[in-house]
Amino acid sequence: MESVKLEFKSRKQKRVVCTVLFMFFWLPALVIQLYSDQTYLLGIRADIVALALQTVGFIFILLSLKYSKCPSCNENAGNGWNVTECNKCGVKFT
Ligand SMILES: [Zn+2]
Repeated sequence: MESVKLEFKSRKQKRVVCTVLFMFFWLPALVIQLYSDQTYLLGIRADIVALALQTVGFIFILLSLKYSKCPSCNENAGNGWNVTECNKCGVKFT
């Protein structure tokens, strides 16, 4: 049981890192889409740059979903940040 807790803790940290990275790519993409019209960034059309940033951000949100799985049953353990037990198999993480 102890190993499940440790694994979940480690996944939770990775999930935070992935979410931060997601924001890091996604927010500039949103700003570019809102404020740039027919502009160029480093010689590339701004909307293409925004799309590329969103694609990279999307990878991190998928990773974050992957890390929200329960280490015991490998199903989604629950939504939100403060998951204390698995929704599926009921194993406790704290
Ligand atoms: Zn589970």
